[in-house]
Amino acid sequence: MPTGLDAETLDMILSAIDDFAAKRLPAALLRELDHKDECPEDILRDMYGPQFGIHLLFIPEEYGGMGGGAFDVYRVSEALARVDLGVSSAVLATFLGLDPIVVGGTPEQKKKWMSRVAEEGLLVAYGVTEPTAGSDLAASRTRADPVEEDGKVVGYRLNGNKQFITNGSIADLYTILAVAPGGFTFFILEKGAEGFSADKPEDKHGIRISDTAPLTLEDVFVPVENVVGGVEGQGMVQATEVFGYTRLMVAAFGLGAGVQAIERAINYAKERVQAGAPLIDKQAFTHKLLVPHAVRLEASRAYIEETARRIDDGESPLNTEGAIAKLVASEAGNAAADAAIQALGGYGYMKEYEVEKIRRDVRITTIYEGTSEIMEWTIARDRWRDNLQQRGQFYLQVVPGVDALHARAPDVGADVAALAIRALHVLIERARLGRLTRNQHILFRLGEWITLAETAACFCRYAADDGPKVSGFAPQVIKAMSRVYAREAASSIVEQGLRWIYGAEDGSADVRGLEADMNVSAIHTAQRGLLADCDTIAQALKEMSFD
Ligand SMILES: Cc1cc2nc3c(=O)[nH]c(=O)nc-3n(C[C@H](O)[C@H](O)[C@H](O)COP(=O)(O)OP(=O)(O)OC[C@H]3O[C@@H](n4cnc5c(N)ncnc54)[C@H](O)[C@@H]3O)c2cc1C
Repeated sequence: MPTGLDAETLDMILSAIDDFAAKRLPAALLRELDHKDECPEDILRDMYGPQFGIHLLFIPEEYGGMGGGAFDVYRVSEALARVDLGVSSAVLATFLGLDPIVVGGTPEQKKKWMSRVAEEGLLVAYGVTEPTAGSDLAASRTRADPVEEDGKVVGYRLNGNKQFITNGSIADLYTILAVAPGGFTFFILEKGAEGFSADKPEDKHGIRISDTAPLTLEDVFVPVENVVGGVEGQGMVQATEVFGYTRLMVAAFGLGAGVQAIERAINYAKERVQAGAPLIDKQAFTHKLLVPHAVRLEASRAYIEETARRIDDGESPLNTEGAIAKLVASEAGNAAADAAIQALGGYGYMKEYEVEKIRRDVRITTIYEGTSEIMEWTIARDRWRDNLQQRGQFYLQVVPGVDALHARAPDVGADVAALAIRALHVLIERARLGRLTRNQHILFRLGEWITLAETAACFCRYAADDGPKVSGFAPQVIKAMSRVYAREAASSIVEQGLRWIYGAEDGSADVRGLEADMNVSAIHTAQRGLLADCDTIAQALKEMSFD
């Protein structure tokens, strides 16, 4: 049985977000709060209040929540991101902060804390990062020393510092990662504990509406019943177990912000006349500043949706797929927001037109919940392992499914996606035989090429299904988009792959053999029709209307 809400309830929540945003977070107020670098704590608390209760989405029904699934979380996260990424980040922090309890808490802890968060609308913070430990959590230094009474551990004293904690100075409840004698362990901490303080919130580049603060822990006593899971040493497992889910949420943030930026650019381009015609009618404008971004965002949507549905169908933890979704969508969102500023020219550079704020806000999505580089590493490491387990055949085993898709739906670009996957296979094997991944950069680049190839194949599957799409694009437009994306993926894999594999090899390697094995000429020939597909997509963008 898939988990999650029925379509009607999800639609109800999505329209409640729109209504709340229109009433409580109008554009002028968001601009003002951004300018003043102010977190609207009262508005956040109202979002968690009885009228709205956004946090209930993440809490299972048995504890008084709504029990939303991964697909619901994706749709709600995208909708929140379209309003404001600072507000979205505050909601994400509650979700993240609860996660250690959701995945690792004892039955009593789950009941107590999740019921309290549901009923009281508590703001939660997730305290993991430290001044000297970000990507490398194993370097964390916050200590948890046992406190014994009559030979029995009754609690722990926490000492250390946490950095960049969302909701840090306003949360009611914190989950804090610290090193106990038995290893990394999460502790549940309520605000006001003696020795626990939040310092001045940071003055940030973007998501200025969110509260981000350092935390100081000086001999803070935490009772033993607040050790998540009841035993020491489970912290790292609890922190990583839900990455499939939480990274999907940040992926949806990148998607929502990117879509919002491109829609603004499209609206503007319809009105703005230069050299006698609206910008939207100028091919060099649309094919550089709008079409590639609309395509990459829709490809990200396809990947997020497929991963979300797989999680809801019981596949877990899908951490590799969560990383691919985050990498592809957050990079697409950033590129789209950047292009949107360019599309608006001088006006894009002005605060009033809002794409400038979206550009600053969306920047965070390639940093928190694991940077893009850490995503590349995670993806490459996992697929490298999968490939070794399959004796170097992992991607060759994927190809027949993509070929079969091409036979069933010849107009979605699956033949080109198959070329991309074969070329990827050749690169991975060449890197393996030449021991090239001893160069860290080659391993990370593989992560990028894997993301391109897997997203291209996924986009073809999405395009082959003619059912309605969240974005509202017609089936023939989605198909043109998936063809464009497959061409881009295949082309990038060969160009970048050859560049870096040759760049890492010594002079004795066979050059022509590699290019023939990757079928470079077929990938070049497959670019035929690219411009016509971009024309189709540009026409579709022109015909769409956005608020
Ligand atoms: C606004 C904001 C809100 C945040 N909210 C929270 C929160 O609520 N809770 C929380 O715990 N944390 C939070 N964070 C922290 C965030 O998750 C970290 O900033 C992030 O994980 C990166 O860690 P770092 O800043 O220490 O950078 P570093 O890890 O020092 O990375 C710096 C650069 O080096 C690269 N790099 C790192 N390691 C490697 C490597 N092995 N090989 C190659 N390159 C590498 C990175 O990709 C990056 O480009 C937040 C951060 C920000 C900015």
